[in-house]
Amino acid sequence: NREIHLASRPQGWPTADNFRLVTTDVPTPGPGQIVVRNRFISVDPYMRGRMNDVKSYVPPFQLDAPLDGGAVGEVVASEADGFKPGDTVLHGLGWREYALVDAKGARTVDPNLAPVSAYLSVLGMTGLTAYAGLLDVAAMKSGETVFVSGAAGAVGSMVGQIAKLRGAARVVGSAGSAAKVERLRALGFDAAFDYHDGPVRDALKAAAPDGIDVYFDNVGGEHLEAAIGAMNLHGRAAICGMIAQYNATEPPAAPRNLALLIGKRLTLRGFLVGDHGHLREQFVQEMAGWLRDGKLSYDETVVDGIENAPEAFLGMLRGENLGKMLVRV
Ligand code: NDP
Repeated sequence: NREIHLASRPQGWPTADNFRLVTTDVPTPGPGQIVVRNRFISVDPYMRGRMNDVKSYVPPFQLDAPLDGGAVGEVVASEADGFKPGDTVLHGLGWREYALVDAKGARTVDPNLAPVSAYLSVLGMTGLTAYAGLLDVAAMKSGETVFVSGAAGAVGSMVGQIAKLRGAARVVGSAGSAAKVERLRALGFDAAFDYHDGPVRDALKAAAPDGIDVYFDNVGGEHLEAAIGAMNLHGRAAICGMIAQYNATEPPAAPRNLALLIGKRLTLRGFLVGDHGHLREQFVQEMAGWLRDGKLSYDETVVDGIENAPEAFLGMLRGENLGKMLVRV
């Protein structure tokens, strides 16, 4: 059995030196275990984060131990109920030829439904990421315009196609080469561009002149900035990944921790008070009650004279107010 170990933790872009090929004996299963001859193993962007020694939503890889990740293969030995040699299974011990897997960490898949590799792509984790991110997280509705970055990759290529199949009016993708852009057009994207050709903002403006309703972010950075700029009212973004910064040694400009949105599953939602007028009556009732009962305090800073209004305004910008800045006229 040959397997890949993490030899050292990369600083910035990983190099071959960070990995080591190690030969071991083919394992034999204990009770409740199976041995799988892996046929396909997945390599994914999130693994880069696991090569750093930092706490995240998945634990870091250990040095001098095999890496792990999605894999699909055939059972060659089984000491577990429900699995027999020849079964095709999906499990989490990739980066090796033979895996000793606890049966509860393996799932049988149907090799007749699709080629087995599909369980690591279109029918697997990346396919589900696209489907759930677009339809659930971003709540795409038919008739909307969708922009997806990393569009020629595993997740992005599914996002664009699912969007079209679910009735998106226009789907725009960005990717890193002319060949990828051509592929996106063949996949049914209405517009596509190579983000190396100029500012993303300009390319997106040309590709979606009426703006976008949904942004599926695989890249972060300049792409996210351009997408926010192009968003129509009530637009939504599914923040799936920020691959542009995975190998960065310096944090990007603030907010430098924007990638925490992903691991913490945060929602940042814009709003305008004008949309919430239906709360006004309830608001006045409750606030007036708290005031009456002495539970709520408020400060006012009052500047006298209309002639001092500009100074009051500027003072407010400088922070000279405590509580509400007002002008008494
Ligand atoms: P991909 O198949 O899309 O492969 C990665 C691609 O990223 C590359 O092909 C490359 O394409 C692109 N890329 C690399 N560097 C940059 C850069 N600086 N700017 C723009 N694009 C870049 O990977 P996946 O489909 O597996 O993952 C896509 C994204 O989804 C990643 O950010 C990943 O972390 C995220 N993800 C998140 C999940 C979640 O649960 N939140 C689950 C799965 C994936 P190009 O030639 O176009 O540059």
